[in-house]
Amino acid sequence: MTHPVATRARRPPAACAVASPPDAGATPTAPGGRPLVSIVVPVHNEAPGLGALLHRLGEVTATVDCAFEFVFVDDGSTDGTRRVLEGHRARDDRIGVVGLSRRFGKEHAVAAGLQHAAGDAVVLIDADLQDPPECLPAMIAAWQDGYDVVAMRRADRRVDGWFKRASAHAFYRLMNWVSDIEMPTDVGDFRLMSRRVVEVVNRLPETHRCTKGLFAWVGFRTRILDYTRAKRAAGDTKWPFLKLVGLAVDNVTAFSIAPLRLSTVLGFLVATFALVYGLTTAVSTVVFGNPVAGFSTTVALMTLIGGIQLIAIGVLGEYVGRTFIEVKKRPLYVVESVQPATRRTTAAARRDGWLGPGA
Ligand code: UDP
Ligand code: MG
Repeated sequence: MTHPVATRARRPPAACAVASPPDAGATPTAPGGRPLVSIVVPVHNEAPGLGALLHRLGEVTATVDCAFEFVFVDDGSTDGTRRVLEGHRARDDRIGVVGLSRRFGKEHAVAAGLQHAAGDAVVLIDADLQDPPECLPAMIAAWQDGYDVVAMRRADRRVDGWFKRASAHAFYRLMNWVSDIEMPTDVGDFRLMSRRVVEVVNRLPETHRCTKGLFAWVGFRTRILDYTRAKRAAGDTKWPFLKLVGLAVDNVTAFSIAPLRLSTVLGFLVATFALVYGLTTAVSTVVFGNPVAGFSTTVALMTLIGGIQLIAIGVLGEYVGRTFIEVKKRPLYVVESVQPATRRTTAAARRDGWLGPGA
C-alpha cells in the first residue's frame, strides 16, 4: 500500500543528508485528507527566540502537503514565555499551549507534549533552533516512505564546546557498554515518530524518563538522517555540568544493573585479595618467623575495604531510591492549562470522521 499523500518538497534540505539506505516496507496508515503532523516543542524560558522559531516553522511547513499543529509545552517558564506563546496562538490557529504547573524538566515536558499531540506523526524539536526546522520535509518524506521513527543524528557537533562533545561521546559509549539496548551515537530527542510509536511511548509509566533510552527501547523501523547542529539562537542552555552528570546516572540506572554487578565483582576481588594477603602473612610468620606487618598496613586495608563498602551501598541506594520514587506512581507532570490548537481540533475531528472533508 502506498501512502496517499505526497510532500511537495521531497528533496532533503542542505542541512540534512540521508545517512542510511532507502528501504521500502510498511507505510503509515493515513486517514482521508492530509495527514496531521504535530510539532512538539518543550519550552523553558525561551521567550526571546520563539518568534524566530515560529517564523522558520511557518516557512518550512508551507512547503509540505500536510496539516500541522504546534504543541508548545511551557515547562514552568518565568520569563513570560507563556504570554508570548498565547500572543502567537491568537494569530495562528495551529498553535496549542500546554502549561505545566511548575518546571518538571525537559523529559517530562516532552511526555506532556506527546500525550497532547493528536498528529498521525509527531516531531520533537527544541525551541532554541539548534534542531533546524528545515529538516522537517526530509523527516516527513522518510515517514511517508514507511519508517515509524526518523531519528536525527548530529553529524557535526563543532558548535558544541569540546567538553560537551567529549562528555556526549563518553555518555553514548558508556550506555552502549552497560545496557542491553542499542543507543545510536549522537542521536538526541530531535525525531519524528509515527502515531503507533507515540502510543507506545505514552504507555511507558516510569517517572525517571530518560527519553533517549526509552525511544531506543521502543524499537520499530528507524531511519537515521544526519543534520548539522546549529548554535543556540537565543537564551542559555538549561544543562549545567552537574545536571548532565545526574542525567547520565539516571540513564545508566534506568537501563542497566551493571553497577550492581560491578559492586559484586569488586566485593569478590577484594575478598580474594584479603584471603591471599592473609595466607601470605600467616605463612611468612609461621614458616619464616617474620613479624606481622605494621599498623599502617592495617589502617590502609581497613579504609580501602570501608570505602569499597560505602561505594557498594551507594550504588545499591541509587537503585533503592529509584524504586522508591517509581512505586509512588506520581503523575509525570501537572497541567495547569491547555489551550489546544483550534485548527487541530478541526483536523483531528475530520481525522476521526466527525467532519466531512469539506469542513
Ligand atoms: N527545556 C525544558 N525544560 C527544562 C530544560 C529545557 O522544557 O527544564 C527545553 C528548552 O526550552 C529547549 C529544550 O528543552 O527547548 C532543550 O534545552 P536546552 O537547549 O537548554 O538543552 P541543550 O540544547 O543544551 O541540550
Ligand atoms: Mg539547546
